[in-house]
Amino acid sequence: MSSIRLQNVVKEFDGQVVVQGITLYIEDGEFVVLVGPSGCGKTTTLRMIAGLESASGGNIFIADRRVNDIAPKKRNIAMVFQSYALYPHMSVFENMSFALHLRGEDRPTIEGKVDGVARPLGLAELLRRKPRQLSGGQRQRVAMGRAIVRAPEAFLFDEPLSNLDAKLRVHMRTEIKRLHRRLGATIVYVTHDQVEAMTLADRIVVMNGGTIEQVGPPQEMYSAPMSKFVAGFIGSPAMNFIPCRLTGDRDALAVELDEDTRLPVPAARVERYRPFVDRPMELGIRPEHIREAGAGHPAQAVTAPVDVVEPMGMDTMVYFALGRNEEVCARVSPNAAVSAGEAMTFAVDMGQMHLIDPDSGRVV
Ligand code: ATP
Repeated sequence: MSSIRLQNVVKEFDGQVVVQGITLYIEDGEFVVLVGPSGCGKTTTLRMIAGLESASGGNIFIADRRVNDIAPKKRNIAMVFQSYALYPHMSVFENMSFALHLRGEDRPTIEGKVDGVARPLGLAELLRRKPRQLSGGQRQRVAMGRAIVRAPEAFLFDEPLSNLDAKLRVHMRTEIKRLHRRLGATIVYVTHDQVEAMTLADRIVVMNGGTIEQVGPPQEMYSAPMSKFVAGFIGSPAMNFIPCRLTGDRDALAVELDEDTRLPVPAARVERYRPFVDRPMELGIRPEHIREAGAGHPAQAVTAPVDVVEPMGMDTMVYFALGRNEEVCARVSPNAAVSAGEAMTFAVDMGQMHLIDPDSGRVV
């Protein structure tokens, strides 16, 4: 397996810049997930690594070799697509062995390699079948198996699970993670699903409008987002954003949501936030950090009439208005008996707050 390095990589289509000079180092054996909204340039970036699109600027290295001018098949990279792109007239065995035939490998070698990959993927009994005789999950595994037998420098996955139903998607997600651990493979994986990104990645790359917003391990992206964009993209349900003003004196600061609602800023943040006093700001707080009153953590209480209640089984989502009528989602215990229209007291864990400068969109 190999490292992959993107150095100031640009892509233009008909004069329109869709990837704006991105720089990223993917270590040998690392699982990196590119995530972001539709049109942010994830697939184009992946296709440039594969060589299916040429870069308009910058350098792409695979294992320290500059590959900008090297044809896709000579890059020795395997790509697994959403559509699987299996040959319908070929059996599973033929699909999996096709690339090895092209390389001129002999029959016993090919059979040995296909068998070695088919077995752990649960495909050993299916080798004679045609793709149409397989379930979606089995087809997905054939597409992965076909990639693995080639022993490529790296795997590129483009939304490989988006055609599967929800249950199978979760199952295959675990399979891919297991595969990564077993092969020690370098994987670049594109998805627009932040749950897939969180669960699979060693590091997540959040893209926005052809640029990289932030790169980091999943937990860091969740707990220390650097921009409102990342804060709102990672985590489900999404973080609440509430316009506010910082008020305070020498020793203490508060987040003022309206004349009657002030939440204290944790002491450890006072110095960092002081330059923003009296400026219009936004409070970012995740639903899971607004619980029913009395649920553990020392927290600030707010009381409000409940608008909508959504039981999820494990948790209950409660929507209510805070500040100047901003809709806020809280994640409360299913045991916190609550109905729409009733007043409820919530505990806001201000230790988990984020403060956003609305002018720059940065978390300060
Ligand atoms: P999605 O999640 O919808 O697949 P994405 O983040 O993968 O989105 P890309 O497919 O990389 O986005 O596309 C980035 C931008 O480049 C989009 O605005 C798209 O319309 C444009 N684009 C992609 N391919 C081409 C092309 N061949 N010609 C012109 N524009 C293109």
